[in-house]
Amino acid sequence: MKKLLVLGSTGSIGVNTLNVVDEFSDRYKIEVLSTYRNIDLLETQIKKFKPSVAVVIDPEKAEILKTRSTGDCKILTGSEALIEVSRESDYDIFVNALVGFSGLAPTIEAIKLGKRIALANKETLVVAGEIINNLLKEYNSEMIPVDSEHSAIFQCLVGENSNEIKKLIVTASGGPFLARSLEELENVTIEDALNHPNWKMGSKITIDSATMMNKGLEVIEAHWLFNLPKEKIDVVVHPQSIIHSMVEFVDCSIKAQLSLPDMKLPIQYAITYPERLSSNFVETDFFKLQNLTFIKPDMEKFRCLKLAYDVMEQGGTAACTLNAANEVAVDWFLNGKIKFTNIPEIIEDSLENVEIIQNPDLETIFYSDRQTREYLRNSKWRD
Ligand code: MG
Repeated sequence: MKKLLVLGSTGSIGVNTLNVVDEFSDRYKIEVLSTYRNIDLLETQIKKFKPSVAVVIDPEKAEILKTRSTGDCKILTGSEALIEVSRESDYDIFVNALVGFSGLAPTIEAIKLGKRIALANKETLVVAGEIINNLLKEYNSEMIPVDSEHSAIFQCLVGENSNEIKKLIVTASGGPFLARSLEELENVTIEDALNHPNWKMGSKITIDSATMMNKGLEVIEAHWLFNLPKEKIDVVVHPQSIIHSMVEFVDCSIKAQLSLPDMKLPIQYAITYPERLSSNFVETDFFKLQNLTFIKPDMEKFRCLKLAYDVMEQGGTAACTLNAANEVAVDWFLNGKIKFTNIPEIIEDSLENVEIIQNPDLETIFYSDRQTREYLRNSKWRD
């Protein structure tokens, strides 16, 4: 029986992870769960999966949960508790489904214990890819991607020689604004942006999909995960989200991984790899698919994607600043404080004005994240 620690269990990836565990309850068991503040769903999850520990980051919500009956499950609170459970719990597989920069510190604790890391928190690799890769080697820990594109590439590379890769082809749905002009993007509403055509996800990643920053973050994630330069990572818009990504080899042969979009597939693979277990979460009927199309991404319209390629060129803490500025800008957009088209402008402004430090250590990464947020707090965008 393998034990799982699931951070961010009440989000979309977390819920899907628990569905997978439920399907294979003879092999997997939940040891730790966590939520930011959704204690109602967490309480249901505790009753069903009986973890030893659950973390509620919001202290007020944690107090409310403690008054309810959660059996033998210990309730911890605060973001420090995420680090503590990652370091001290008894588990085999670390599932990181946290949103944003907060996913970094707990991942490092799990790596230091040599655990399997099932990574859905792409920001961990975006902000600290080189450091994470060094730690994975040092502590002999393995990282299996949960992101559907990276899972697809990972699956295409099983049995292949990495120096025979010509390029990675990361597919993108194009989000809800694929057909809109740059001018039309000026006035899109929060509701428009949250209406993703293919995937049901949390609000941060849904906005990232609408700006295509999500794809930008994924290109950076792929760069570190598969150790390839940005010139070898292409993005192709594929609105149907059936091909989850591809690898082209030096002989021009291309491998792809396909299925109807369902996050349970990549989650299951990250947990069971190198095994495949029989399941029927989603079955693809080719005769129901209309057609598969491919479009070149418009880097002018989706400036966030271009900015992601730019920060890979700049190196150092540039990607960390891009990520922090994006987190702040998305939060402001969701709270009605800025326009949709301000998001890339805010990121660009931060990259121009926040110091980029080369060869950062972990402390520098945390410093750079704080500096960027501090810069934006005092910037013209706040007015
Ligand atoms: Mg993805």
